[in-house]
Amino acid sequence: MSEAMGLKAKLGLNVFKHNETAHIVIKPGMEKDPRLKRAILVCPAGLYSENAAGGVELTIDGCLECGTCRLACGIEVLDWNFPEGGTGVQFRFG
Ligand code: SF4
Repeated sequence: MSEAMGLKAKLGLNVFKHNETAHIVIKPGMEKDPRLKRAILVCPAGLYSENAAGGVELTIDGCLECGTCRLACGIEVLDWNFPEGGTGVQFRFG
């Protein structure tokens, strides 16, 4: 692998096997909770974003299962679980 390869290119090598249900869910009614905005800053895969209504959205595809959002935001706003066995991320960069 080239040392000049950027983070996005490296993340693009990972493979994700989908599950029918998302393993991380923003708890209902917590979309505008200030704690949730921390996830926008800390998620290494950039899966959290703020929508036009001022709420936070999560796109689960590409989740690295690192747990950073759980630590940053707390279980009061996120229902965080590992994916079922055989699903989720497969790292491909060593
Ligand atoms: S577990 Fe990690 S990669 Fe997945 S959504 Fe949370 S911060 Fe992002």
